[in-house]
Amino acid sequence: MSQGSEITAVPAFHGPGGTAGSTPETTSMGVLRAVSLCIHFGGVKAVDQVSFQVEAGCLFGVLGPNGSGKSTLLAAITRLQRPTSGRIYLHGEDITKLPPNKLARRGVGRTFQTPRLVPTMDVKANVALAADRRSRPLWDRPTKSGKGRVDDVHAAMTRAGIADAADLFPEEISYGNRRRVEIARALAHDPSLLLLDEPTAGMNRQERDEISELLDSLRKQGLTQVLVEHDVPMMVELCDVILAMVQGQVVAVGNPKEVIANETVRKAYLGRKRK
Ligand code: ADP
Ligand code: MG
Repeated sequence: MSQGSEITAVPAFHGPGGTAGSTPETTSMGVLRAVSLCIHFGGVKAVDQVSFQVEAGCLFGVLGPNGSGKSTLLAAITRLQRPTSGRIYLHGEDITKLPPNKLARRGVGRTFQTPRLVPTMDVKANVALAADRRSRPLWDRPTKSGKGRVDDVHAAMTRAGIADAADLFPEEISYGNRRRVEIARALAHDPSLLLLDEPTAGMNRQERDEISELLDSLRKQGLTQVLVEHDVPMMVELCDVILAMVQGQVVAVGNPKEVIANETVRKAYLGRKRK
């Protein structure tokens, strides 16, 4: 596939509303910026020459069929996966080689494709584990910053709409609410950038709508988000900008409706789903 000929015009500036603005040379560097990012596994080009920029307050969607490199892209941004080449910038700072444990302090939160909750800990303890920026364990162990942590945990649970379930264990709450706990964990750091990998996977329609409302409310609070999802109508309605990937490459980026109307995107993703 010839990348240059198939990519929809890529506006350099993607703000809320999907508007294209001025170039990075004349404005900010964005919250997140990837430049010619490549992640290769042997002969597999999981992410291939991917460049994009996410502006503050933007809900930036990443769409693509299974195996198109979405999770690998998030892994590279969160430094769990070392890029083969290319650069990643956070608030203009080159984080390409930053150790992953430094990212939370830089304001990056993420949720995983598969929820990773500790089954023997209740909801608030699960959130508290993540809230402890200094890696000191457990909710009830006093630390210098103990008060702050409890406040952080409650604030995160409230923001994620899971505060009522604080004393319940993961197996006592619905799958949809377990995903909310994951989101609360990510919010416990009070991130400036939240990365979500398929947060509505396995959910019913009502749960999807509720998560959609939650992400919209976080956007209204000014939180910049990168969302990987398969639910096309939800992505179109929710996202300010969509980046579509096929086989590791960006095939379109920009206004959600324009991106899903792109012929390559339809062929690779939407057409396949309708069969
Ligand atoms: P998506 O999240 O879009 O479904 P992934 O990022 O999980 O796609 O995978 C993209 C491609 O990279 C796939 O072909 C996958 O098999 C391959 N891949 C992902 N992680 C690894 C790995 N750790 N080792 C080898 N290949 C991998
Ligand atoms: Mg994935």
